[in-house]
This record gives sequence, C-alpha cells and structure tokens, in this order.
Amino acid sequence: MQEISLSQSFALLGLAAELTRVVAEQGYTEPTPVQAQAIPVILAGRDVLACAQTGTGKTAGFTLPLLQRLSAASPTAAPPPRRVRALILTPTRELAAQIEESVRTYGQYLPLQSTLVYGGVNINPQIEALRRGVDILVATPGRLLDHLQQKTANLAHVEILVLDEADRMLDMGFIRDIRRIIALLPARRQNLLFSATFSNEIRQLADGLLHVPAMIEVARRNAESELVAQRIHPVDAWRKRELLTHLVSSGDWRQVLVFTRMKSGANRLAEQLCKEGIEATAIHGNKSQPARTRALAGFKAGTVRVLVATDIAARGLDIEELPHVVNFELPNVPEDYVHRIGRTGRAGSTGEAISLVSIEENPLLADIEKLLTRRIDRQIVPGFEPGRPPPHLLAAAQAVERGGRDGQRRGSGQGKAGAQRTQTSATPPVRPGASMPARASQAPLPTAPRAPQSARVGAALPVLFRSPTRRGS
Ligand code: AMP
Repeated sequence: MQEISLSQSFALLGLAAELTRVVAEQGYTEPTPVQAQAIPVILAGRDVLACAQTGTGKTAGFTLPLLQRLSAASPTAAPPPRRVRALILTPTRELAAQIEESVRTYGQYLPLQSTLVYGGVNINPQIEALRRGVDILVATPGRLLDHLQQKTANLAHVEILVLDEADRMLDMGFIRDIRRIIALLPARRQNLLFSATFSNEIRQLADGLLHVPAMIEVARRNAESELVAQRIHPVDAWRKRELLTHLVSSGDWRQVLVFTRMKSGANRLAEQLCKEGIEATAIHGNKSQPARTRALAGFKAGTVRVLVATDIAARGLDIEELPHVVNFELPNVPEDYVHRIGRTGRAGSTGEAISLVSIEENPLLADIEKLLTRRIDRQIVPGFEPGRPPPHLLAAAQAVERGGRDGQRRGSGQGKAGAQRTQTSATPPVRPGASMPARASQAPLPTAPRAPQSARVGAALPVLFRSPTRRGS
C-alpha cells in the first residue's frame, strides 16, 4: 500500500515508472522541496538556476529528470553508438564519484550508460570506458580537459549540461576550465546550474550560460535547520584533541566527521587519534585517490570511526545520516560553517554539530553567529574549562622565573638550566600550522620576577597563541 503512494508522489511530478520504482526502493517517501521544484521544469526542458546545498536531495533533483529526458529521446530500436549526451561537472573527485553512483542507482531500470572521469588516477581505464561509449559523463573539469585535448572524449552531442556545486568550482579556480569546456558543447542544449550560494560571479556565469532559467531556491541548511543541534564547547586550543577524544569515547560516538583548517592538521589529528585507540583517518586533496576512496569507504562501513577532513575535501561528501560533525577548528569563511554542519541532520535524520572553540577563534565565531543571526549555545565541558596555560608554557615560565631568581643571585640573565627545561619539557599542543615548541623557546618571556607568576604566564600567552589565518584546502 505504502509503496504505491510513494511512487505516486514522484509520479505526480511527471517521472516515469522506471524512476518512481527506484525512488520507492530507495525509501524516499516524498520529494524534497528542491526535487518538487526542479523535476517538473527539467522534464519540461527548461534551463534551471538552483540555489541548493548538499543534503537537500539536489542530486536526485537533477538526475531523475535528466535520466528520463535521455531515455525518452533515444530510439528504442537500433540504438546508435553511445555518445555523451549529458555532462555533469562537479568540483571534487568524491562528489563526482557519488553523483555517478546516484546516476547508476537511479538509472538501473533504464538502458543508459554512465562513466566517471577525474584526476589523480590512471587515465587509461577512463579512456577505455569512453571508447566503449557512454550516455552520461560525470567529470571534474581538469581531467575532462585532458581527455578533450587527447581527443579521448567528445562533447559534440551533449544535450544536457549540469554544473553542480558551481560556487565551489569557482572557488577552486575552475572558471577558465569550465569556459573552455562549455565552448566545446553544441549551442542548443539544456543547462542546469546548481550552487549553494548566489555570488556575483555565479550570476555572471549564469547570465552567459542559461536561457530564461527557472529559478529555484530552497531553504539554506543553517542554524534554523531543526535537524541540527549546534553547540560550542569553549576550550583551550592545546586541549582540543584531549576534549575530542573525551567526547568520542564518553559519548561512544561511532561515526564522526571532524573538520580542521589545514591538511597538515588533519593528518596530525588522525594520527594522534589512532595512537589513542580511536580508528581515524584523514581525507584531503594531497592524498592519492585510492587512499581517499579507501578512507571514505572505511568511514561509511564503520571501520573508521573518525574521518578528519578539510573543507574542500569534505564538500559534497554524501554520507547518510551522519550523527556527529565536529569543528575542531572554526573555518575562516563563515559560509563554510554552514556547509560543514550541513553534513549532519540530512534528509530527515537528526544530528549534532559541535565546535571546539578556543579564545583566539572568538572573532571567527562572531562572524559565524552574524551570518546565522543567532547565538549558538556554549557549554563548558567539566574538566576542560578554558584559561589554563599549556603545561610546557607553564614549565617555561617557571623555568624562566627560576632562571631570573638564579640570575638575580648570580647577577646575570636567564639560567642555562632554565633554557634547557624550556625545550625538553614541552608537550606540543595540537595547533595546525603553528610550530609551538620552537615559538615557546623563542618567545619573549619575562626574565625577572617582578609580577606574580600567573600574570607573567598570561602576558606571554597572547604572543604564543597567535592563530594562523591562512585558509586550508
Ligand atoms: P544530496 O543533497 O543530493 O546530496 O542528497 C542528500 C541525501 O538525501 C542523499 O543521501 C539521498 O539519498 C537523500 N535523498 C534524496 N532525495 C530524498 C528524498 N526524497 N527523501 C529522502 N532522502 C532523500
């Protein structure tokens, strides 16, 4: 009974039986807002400009009608040699792989072939797949251009172009590649542009590309999303890793996506978690494609408990019902916060997004709350109250103080023993991008005991705690 009503709600949008059947098998009870808006207009052959983020069901929103249009237009008798008729461009390899998987799933009852083209892996199997013939090509721009230059791909018969996560493709500097690819497409075609944001650049791209587009805008996944519980845990930067371990262990979290700003920080954090017995792995642009695929598969299968990712690597990852997202460091760009928390509480399931925020990240937090137009709850975790200097700094200050006292007694400056202690007692805190032990030994610590010790340690901290402002990838 229920299955009939499921397929009916999608059938009402105009989808054929081969597709409503898959949708029912996927357990989709009703179209998401982006699907309800996009499917009929795409079926009608119109261009679309859609503002929709990952997690809104946008992939099915363009894939289902695209499959239907391609299958409806192809003659059933004597099929022609397969030619690329739909091109889906996406910014990252992971997203490309996920979209192609969706194309295969949704198209399983239709006689259409798809393939995947992205960089970082051997090009030959891709050439083979293209040579065998495909109807739908999912690609990242760089590798597709390689194929076009080598003439191993031909776009002369493309009927539908999809630019997915167009804003991120522009952020990643793909605009020239995209323009070069578009120049090779037939002039008469349907264009679908999906973007999480509508910047001026996106509008410019849309102006040059789309013909009288249907505009689709669905609610942003942001603080107002009732599905994502958001929390800030104020904590000292040097205790973040300890707090993360505590949260994962005490909450018995089985699947956690953790964001860091820098690739180096992601690697280090994953290594340290592993040492503490928590299965973790990092995913970022420097990793080979097989390593990234393995990491994601392990995470999805549950053998990897913590996936540590940078913003660009994580963008578009489709991990269903992800229960926990942790911002180990806040992003420099407030919109990235919204993208990050969009990884949880997706398509009907609830999730929580937790940010570990140290005092030097408060300006970033202020920007995020301004964007969300609301304050996120703060909860100090007992035992992790912020405001304690790291042990190595305390040791350094104590050493300096001892040195100062010795110096006063000897009538000279900092004692040698104190300097050695500064270097050997350091436990490097987890601060991606910062080389703390070196800074600690170079920092202008006070040399004479003129003020109470706590005040002097505090005076040294702002210098040592200066946070990096570079943007990771
Ligand atoms: P997307 O925004 O395309 O990344 O999709 C996010 C997730 O929503 C995917 O895991 C889909 O399987 C799922 N999804 C797509 N459409 C629906 C729907 N109508 N009902 C429930 N889940 C859906």
